Amino acid sequence: MIHQLTPLVESDAFGTPTQRVWLKLEALQPSGSFKLRGVGHACEVHAARGARRFLSSSGGNAGLAVAYAGRRLGVPVRVVVPESTREWARSLIRRQGAELVVHGSSWMEANEYLTASREPTDAFIHPFDDPDVIAGQGTIGMEILRQHQGDIDAIFVAVGGGGLISGIAAYVKAVRPKTKVIAVQPTDSAAMVESLRAGRRVTLPTVGLFADAIAVKQVGSETFRLCQQYVDDTVLVSTDEICAAIKDVYTDCRSILEPGGAAAIAGMKKYAEKHRYRGKTLVAVACGSNMNFDRLRFVAERAVIGEAREAVLAVTLPEKAGSFRAFCEVLGPRSVTEFNYRYASGTQAHVFVGVELAHKRETASL
Ligand SMILES: *Cc1c(COP(=O)(O)O)cnc(C)c1O
Repeated sequence: MIHQLTPLVESDAFGTPTQRVWLKLEALQPSGSFKLRGVGHACEVHAARGARRFLSSSGGNAGLAVAYAGRRLGVPVRVVVPESTREWARSLIRRQGAELVVHGSSWMEANEYLTASREPTDAFIHPFDDPDVIAGQGTIGMEILRQHQGDIDAIFVAVGGGGLISGIAAYVKAVRPKTKVIAVQPTDSAAMVESLRAGRRVTLPTVGLFADAIAVKQVGSETFRLCQQYVDDTVLVSTDEICAAIKDVYTDCRSILEPGGAAAIAGMKKYAEKHRYRGKTLVAVACGSNMNFDRLRFVAERAVIGEAREAVLAVTLPEKAGSFRAFCEVLGPRSVTEFNYRYASGTQAHVFVGVELAHKRETASL
């Protein structure tokens, strides 16, 4: 077993005297996310079958987990990523001793290169749509039920491609069918929610950039099948709600989560408020912590936006076509109260923008 057992901690910030909330701290997993459970399991299976090298086309948590698992098993790893992959992510993968190949301008080009250069003894490790990966993620469900022996009303899980929730739901529904398993997705990357609604796998034309670990255009076929069978309900969260959850978890247990890692907690807050939950026992999976330190500034700013009714932002934009539009999309449907544009250099522009906030910040407690 390559992954570690992680604590299930009771949260003061999200619980109330009657409602009890527990966080499964997968952010403490080596490699920084739960991905190591599924990926580590798949790598062990392939190593036992004689694989000589592991391949991954993920520059995120899955690629990092493959690199970590390969090092632990003594099997070389090749990760192929496109040029757009951030330097920070590249260096984390290299630091695990993996061979990192940067190829092409899109994931499709990187993937094509990976497939073309594949040897017969290589094993490709899929980030979610593989029964071995799904089974490994399911160990979280097993641990939660062992660590909390009393009734659990609902378990909240962030969804990208669907491997994490498929594994957890398949286990939990088999052992404690009354416990609800609820899928959480960002409003701008809701491929699983839309697919469940449509009754077929939907491909999104675009996905959000903020919660990058769960920004997936199309969910897996096996994960979709399992989610149709086992997932009880869904909830969508905004970027501001995710930022507020990152802040709340930090205040609660001094743990910093990445956006995808905090989505389940944001979803739990929202769902419990909407359904006026009282006296329930809830669990949220805090599933990842891989965030570039510099992004914390953005998170802190957005969490403040969530608290006040109006805010002024100072933003530096690249001086090129499309960047202002991308900025407006990030702001969402807010009314702009003030606007200031200053051309700074050939490559940058400074923008000061005041925005009115539609709602007061919800309190951290449920
Ligand atoms: C991969 C990932 C998810 C989503 O997992 P899927 O199996 O793709 O649904 C959520 N959060 C983090 C931090 C991740 O790395």
